Amino acid sequence: MGKYTGSMCRLCRVEGKKLFLKGRRCLSDRCAVEKKNYPPGMKGARVNFRKSHYKNQLREKQKVKRFYGVGEKQFRNVFAEAAQKKGITGENLLKTLEMRLDNVVYRVNFAYSRNHARQMIRHGFFAVNGKRVNIPSFIVALNDVISFREKKRAAENVKAMLEDVKGLVEVPGWLLLDGANFSAKVNALPTRDDVSLKEIEERLIVELYSK
Ligand code: SF4
Repeated sequence: MGKYTGSMCRLCRVEGKKLFLKGRRCLSDRCAVEKKNYPPGMKGARVNFRKSHYKNQLREKQKVKRFYGVGEKQFRNVFAEAAQKKGITGENLLKTLEMRLDNVVYRVNFAYSRNHARQMIRHGFFAVNGKRVNIPSFIVALNDVISFREKKRAAENVKAMLEDVKGLVEVPGWLLLDGANFSAKVNALPTRDDVSLKEIEERLIVELYSK
């Protein structure tokens, strides 16, 4: 399936949940989920579908995929790796997604959204441990230092963006932001509580992929 190019807000409305795909707008009263929290195309808000267990599993998977902006193939690969690791597969899955470079860039307020972070990473805005990395799905490791490359942050529009995005989201405890040096360190591995997507039943995804 090709890349989704439609409205981001539509994805949230399909899931009936804020997936924070549009930066500052998500925190404002212009958020589409705040305004009309019912599926697109369903005029009356009181649509009551009967949900099968399979549908619940599918929706849970879609929510996570869309939240992190990951395609089906990549998501399956992350799941396969999570299943190989020690510990609880569902938790491993979420923690690995949390450690993607695009998520890290967003969570330390170097971008308005994960999507924005992905664009900047692809354009070579970031380095990990001093080396340029242009792969949004790159998984950071403990003690890695993610930095905004000096050459890239010198542009006036980038400086203005960085000033504007400052403090947009709360930096999680596992990442140590060094604002003065435009860098962040992976200070600890994220725990299940650190996962930014709340109220997710990851066991449903594990069930779906274990059939
Ligand atoms: Fe989703 Fe953000 Fe749009 Fe709200 S504003 S519906 S959270 S993408």
